Amino acid sequence: MSRDPRYDVLFEPVKIGPVTAKNRFYQVPHCTGLGWVRPRMVAALRGMKAEGGWGVVCTEYCSIHPASDDLPHPYASLWDQGDIKAHTLMTDQVHEHGGLAGAELWVGGSSSANLFTNEVAMDVSSMPNAVGIPYQTRAMDKSDIRELRRWHREAALRAKAAGFDIVYVYATHHYLLSHFLSSKTNNRTDEYGGSLENRVRLVRELIEETKDAVGDKCAVAVRFSADEGGEGSGNPIIGEHREMIEMLAELPDLWDININDYHREMGVSRFVKEASLEAYMSYVKSITTKPVVTVGRFTSPDTMISQINRGIVDFIGAARPSIADPFLPKKIEEGRIDEIRECIGCNNCYVGDSKATPLRCTQNPTIGEEWRRGWHPEKIDPKGSDSTVLVIGSGPAGLEATRSLGNRGYNVLLAEADSHLGGRVSRECQLPGLSEWGRVRDYRTNQILKMPNVDIYLENRMTADDVMAMEADHILIATGAKWKANGQGNYNTQPLTEIGPADQVYTPDDIMAGNLPSGPTLIYDDDHYYMASVIAEVLRQKDLPVTLVTPESMVSSWGDMTSEQAQINRRLLEVGVEIITAHALVSYNGTEAQMECKYTGKLKPINVDAVVTVTMRTPDDDLFREVEQKMIENSDKKENYQPKSLTRIGDCEAPAIIAAAVFAGHRYARELDTEVDPDNRMKYDRVFYEDG
Ligand code: ADP
Ligand code: SF4
Repeated sequence: MSRDPRYDVLFEPVKIGPVTAKNRFYQVPHCTGLGWVRPRMVAALRGMKAEGGWGVVCTEYCSIHPASDDLPHPYASLWDQGDIKAHTLMTDQVHEHGGLAGAELWVGGSSSANLFTNEVAMDVSSMPNAVGIPYQTRAMDKSDIRELRRWHREAALRAKAAGFDIVYVYATHHYLLSHFLSSKTNNRTDEYGGSLENRVRLVRELIEETKDAVGDKCAVAVRFSADEGGEGSGNPIIGEHREMIEMLAELPDLWDININDYHREMGVSRFVKEASLEAYMSYVKSITTKPVVTVGRFTSPDTMISQINRGIVDFIGAARPSIADPFLPKKIEEGRIDEIRECIGCNNCYVGDSKATPLRCTQNPTIGEEWRRGWHPEKIDPKGSDSTVLVIGSGPAGLEATRSLGNRGYNVLLAEADSHLGGRVSRECQLPGLSEWGRVRDYRTNQILKMPNVDIYLENRMTADDVMAMEADHILIATGAKWKANGQGNYNTQPLTEIGPADQVYTPDDIMAGNLPSGPTLIYDDDHYYMASVIAEVLRQKDLPVTLVTPESMVSSWGDMTSEQAQINRRLLEVGVEIITAHALVSYNGTEAQMECKYTGKLKPINVDAVVTVTMRTPDDDLFREVEQKMIENSDKKENYQPKSLTRIGDCEAPAIIAAAVFAGHRYARELDTEVDPDNRMKYDRVFYEDG
């Protein structure tokens, strides 16, 4: 297949100061949960992006000095020779594929309390730690500023030594430099405070000094916010930021533009759609001749060319789309648009940074596994035998297993009870705001339907006898899970003794099946992710009075990990949901629900017509157990059929997020007919130590 000529513009080389990017695909700095802690894993991940065609591939935020440490969040660092050696692993791989490597030099200021290095954090003034750690910063005096400039210069030199082609001055995202810029945080009376010129001074000095240090070989990029407020509204307040960019317009070699509201900049698809930064930053190109990049969860090549052709940006910046599909540029280049694995905007990749663990992606189960498991997002070993695999259930686990087994060349029989594929994904993508989640199903279905070695049997609810009658070599059960209706969960570790009548107690499965209450409803959320809040939206759309009760101290608390908690909370308040925190449902008799205060045990009654319990799920593993039983019964007669393996994966093994089901399906397919050491399924990355 050849490329659509309309997309040619995306493959034009673009000069960035002394270096030239081979095309307009730019992986902006993004965290991975790997950082300096896992150098080989992160190098292989970045190298894979370059292999997939990204013209520029950047690090995550990269600390210039031990006085800026962000553990437990795994940042990158450029502190010493060991770091240079670690980064060289990445830059070598990026260069091997013709990409440019960028290092985002970072100073945290009041965002980092330096819990790892125990250095005193510094900022423009003495201020509280921005993320609630009970430490304050020291106000930087002139000698501190001189030291900071020296650290930045030396880190830039180390970046150059490590082979980076682009070095960043990072002046946004509420880190130290943005505090110098803002009149809200900068109260200084010296030449670094007061007037706009004074507040911009440090950023200007760092740009000039970085150019002086490494500008012969490296481009100097500035990461900068196009606006200074308007949080959440979608109506930007540009404020002084236009003037600031005008003052510095021609100084850097590239402007990497983002916005003040991080929750919108990397918003989940439930609240923020593709290309959402345009309204904030479209003016930037009119005031600089330097190339401009921004993000916008770009997955559509038509949106990309529109951005370029209308002069909004020079580069298509991406973090999440490059995680979901490291080969996105190659697929556009080769005219394989329907093979793009589009990001669904769920932000599960961000959990890696939040929880200090390697990132995981709902769409791309190979991300982070490039080095430790040797997984390639586009390549998989051919089948290890002529076996036939019977897959039962076409949710994310069954679909991904089928797709990957099909790619390996196995004969796959996929049986699904429903009249359509997708399992929970097909149900959940009907909920308010979640339509893009359907991409998990669509990407896989598109591929499977083209495979002559995959047969699909819809409307086929398999019994154990049906399964045994198929005589497949391997049986894979991916039958999912069902939400419980008895109040049992994290808080109530046992089912509630009083909860009923049954026709007034609903679960998310009922709501998704269109079986809704008709009066005032209590939603009891002991799940803490998105489900209770989307159910609340469904019920509010029907004008039902809704009270959402949770034992946590905020709604959808896990949403903090995916950077959506504040937006969920705002949405619930906007649509008129009453929220009661720190309470658990302990009984319901059809008219009155009793809630118990988590701290005092005091009971609080509420009269409602219905209760929706969003607590935990029961694995749908009856079929697995019945087949297991049949195999035991058959085992004493040699002539009877016995499969070579019976396996259960996904929610029917252990209910979890969609990403976990996709991963389970992929792993099953990778490991079939291979030797796997169950005690050591992968390699474990370790940090280098180097003197100097
Ligand atoms: P997961 O997230 O683990 O992939 P899902 O709940 O999304 O699980 O999908 C499970 C799928 O399995 C559903 O589409 C369901 O209809 C299907 N299923 C459940 N039991 C059977 C069965 N006995 N035969 C065929 N399909 C089944
Ligand atoms: Fe996109 Fe979700 Fe993957 Fe992140 S985890 S890249 S948001 S699909």
